[in-house]
Amino acid sequence: MRQPLVAGNWKMNGSLKANEALLGDLRKALSGGIKAEVAVCPPFVYLPQVAGLIDGQPMALGAQDLSDQDAGAFTGEVSGTMLKDLGCEYVIVGHSERRSLYGEGDEFTARKFAAARRHGLKPILCVGELLEERESGVTEQVVARQLDAVMDLEGVSALADAVIAYEPVWAIGTGKTASPEQAQAVHAFIRARVAERDAQVAEGLRILYGGSVKADNAAELFSQPDIDGGLIGGASLKADDFMAICRAA
Ligand code: PEP
Repeated sequence: MRQPLVAGNWKMNGSLKANEALLGDLRKALSGGIKAEVAVCPPFVYLPQVAGLIDGQPMALGAQDLSDQDAGAFTGEVSGTMLKDLGCEYVIVGHSERRSLYGEGDEFTARKFAAARRHGLKPILCVGELLEERESGVTEQVVARQLDAVMDLEGVSALADAVIAYEPVWAIGTGKTASPEQAQAVHAFIRARVAERDAQVAEGLRILYGGSVKADNAAELFSQPDIDGGLIGGASLKADDFMAICRAA
């Protein structure tokens, strides 16, 4: 049985004041208990504040990115050791905004994934195709390439403690969601791809869907057999919406 996970990716949003208000509302909403595991991924600078605000709460802390390096002369970078030091449990790796806006490729992303594991962090590996790739029928090839880069570098067993987030790029922040059937088909493909190397790892692997998940479409997406929760961007900044999504998982 896979426990669903709902992770909020705040992206470059928030302030000391807004974070306090948002987490105060989430704390109240979570006090009734919830089946899914819930994680929040604020920007680096707010990690210590958020760690304090969620202390003792059923919420995990995650970061949005990390360096592929461990320490040294890498100006502006943040290492896995530092994230662990601040209490992070999860770290997003290979988000499509990192891939497309900052040119981070599959091999580089795989090295970040490896760095996360070296420091005892659970990577949330994002994979997903562009609109033109979907339209030209190469979705599975793209997702397979992104996934294989990690399995080739780290071995399939590295996925045992990791999470995959399937995020079709055309659905991120656009208001266009993949239909439950479209999402399920890619999730099943990902699980089967991992199962070719290790059936047990594939069975236990949590595969989240991300891309314009909202309070009113979450339940249908999460009811698909291979969708184990969501990676939520915009809607994770509104306590009511985020909690409704968490409850749907
Ligand atoms: C994301 O950035 O991971 C994401 C899924 O964003 P949104 O929910 O806003 O589409």
